[in-house]
Amino acid sequence: MHAHEVKRAFIFCSDPRVKLRKAVEQQLVLPGERVIALSWLGGPIALSNREILPSDFAFIMNQISFLRRKFPTTTEINPVGHKCGYYENVSAESVNIERMEEDLVKAAFMIMATFDGIRSVPYYAHDIDGNGHDFDFKELTAANI
Ligand SMILES: [Zn+2]
Repeated sequence: MHAHEVKRAFIFCSDPRVKLRKAVEQQLVLPGERVIALSWLGGPIALSNREILPSDFAFIMNQISFLRRKFPTTTEINPVGHKCGYYENVSAESVNIERMEEDLVKAAFMIMATFDGIRSVPYYAHDIDGNGHDFDFKELTAANI
């Protein structure tokens, strides 16, 4: 309808050392597209760790519910993960990339199972140089878990 109509949202970590917002805008957002950034420390992690982070989970669900009311044209909400320090709130042991990717796929399924008419594509942002600036996005599917 309108070029400025919001159709997609991205959930990602707000850690300022990690330039995820810039990378998402440069690589995942289409030219001229307007998207909603749902960004806080840890990003989508609580979506797939509900038992351990129940209040974070509820917060994210409330954010998405609000988004859907205010931006009803939204059809896609995509979790974007990275090697995130917030995992210390989930596990005392370090979490490997397989677990993080699995969590992102679970987060996408949680979004789709909860919100009718919403699709969800999970992405893992691989930090190419480890400096938080350059990312290679890997689109995940259920085949990844
Ligand atoms: Zn993070």
